[in-house]
Amino acid sequence: MSDDVIRIFDTTLRDGEQSPGCSMNIDEKLDVAAALVELGVDIIEAGFPIASPGDFAAVKAVAEKFGDRTTICGLARCRQEDIDRAWEALQHAQKKRIHVFLATSAIHMQYKLKMAEEQIISRTAEMVARARDYCEDIEFSPEDASRTELDFLCQVVETAINAGATTVNIPDTVGYATPSHYYNVIRTLKSQVPNIDRAVISTHCHNDLGLAVANSLAAVEAGARQVECTINGIGERAGNAALEEIVMAIRTRSDYYKVSTRINTPRLVPTSRLVTNVTGMKIQRNKAVVGQNAFAHEAGIHQHGMLQERTTYEIMRPEDVGFVGTNLVLGKHSGRHAFHDRLTSLGYTLDDAAFQKVFEDFIALADKKKEIYDADIVALVDQRSHQVHETWSMVTMHTSAGTGTIPTATIELRHESGETRRDAATGDGPIDAVFVALERVVGLPVKLIEFDVSSVSGGKDALGQVNVTVKVDDRTYHGQGVSTDVIEAAAIAYLQALNKAIAER
Ligand SMILES: [Zn+2]
Repeated sequence: MSDDVIRIFDTTLRDGEQSPGCSMNIDEKLDVAAALVELGVDIIEAGFPIASPGDFAAVKAVAEKFGDRTTICGLARCRQEDIDRAWEALQHAQKKRIHVFLATSAIHMQYKLKMAEEQIISRTAEMVARARDYCEDIEFSPEDASRTELDFLCQVVETAINAGATTVNIPDTVGYATPSHYYNVIRTLKSQVPNIDRAVISTHCHNDLGLAVANSLAAVEAGARQVECTINGIGERAGNAALEEIVMAIRTRSDYYKVSTRINTPRLVPTSRLVTNVTGMKIQRNKAVVGQNAFAHEAGIHQHGMLQERTTYEIMRPEDVGFVGTNLVLGKHSGRHAFHDRLTSLGYTLDDAAFQKVFEDFIALADKKKEIYDADIVALVDQRSHQVHETWSMVTMHTSAGTGTIPTATIELRHESGETRRDAATGDGPIDAVFVALERVVGLPVKLIEFDVSSVSGGKDALGQVNVTVKVDDRTYHGQGVSTDVIEAAAIAYLQALNKAIAER
């Protein structure tokens, strides 16, 4: 690859997924992987195969389905069994990479690994070579590199390259680096490691000090040619460098960086939305690039300037990152054709059957809500496309609540076998009563971890969106529901989370 192209290594499915509240099941991981392929990322780190049978299955499925289009990567510690397992998951992909890591900072060597420097060097050589016997594309990461003594870091990197590493990743594992410090680390490697030209230097930055993107860009300036990042910046603790910010910074400031990426930038917003929906991890309104307000101009003086000439206050065009808000309102009398056109301009291509279902949802919504905005349509499509296997489906739901009465819910569900069951419950409020009734019918021990209600668009008749996270058998599951009635939205969300739990049991 030419030296002015930055490889985008996405680790949403590995570093992102392992962060609190972001777990995904295998179908969700495949959906996200499909979006990442469309987005044009160069490498997808799909998981850590030895971590669990579920992780293994997900890496294998992603490798088999997408390995002919994008390089699929699996993570391994510097241990035989890890590397063998990673290979087992990846072997059928056309393009594959094994990513081996070993900590090199004094603090990690002493307290975590209890290994001396010589042992780190010999283990690195041995395990990189083992991985290289399986696979030509090998990445090595000296974990906690930014806190590693520089001379030793140079030695380890040289050893890894000699043993066959084709990418050397320099992780700021704990988010300790600052831009000029990190720049110097990369510069030093470039000038001190004799065989450095045989490998691509990569960055992996965490956001504990809010510097992940800035540090990654400093590394690019110093000569790094791969950036590891995640959609929406999800990841351990404060998260990773946000892919969308890295990509748009490089693109918007190509005059300065003189490099480019192969990202199809109009897919940024749809991919961001997908990851939000799948994980339930919302982004703030003022989030750079993909936040709801990222392109909103409120101040009169700005609006005036914008009307004269967009570039007075706009450094990126909303359509370049995938915002296509015409915000022309649709309603009851908008026909199939108008609805279809709008879906296309929002970036959706649905097959006939899927289109028909969403169109029916749209008609039903138009009966309840006079004006339908783009955000409503997006919510309808997302709800349809992320439906999970419905072991139980809702037949009827009734709640009653008010001042001076006991909130009560009655629920009837149908099992896929055809059997129907009903139950009633009381609660602190109608939503609580619905949840208790659902738990009784389904018969699962559930703990509600998070509950969030928001409105999809404006107005009194806005669609309400409910996100719930529940814990069943120590695993967390996320559910989402959308309706003009928030109690119904809550019931849909809760039932979806329960259906996910049942499917995995
Ligand atoms: Zn990380």
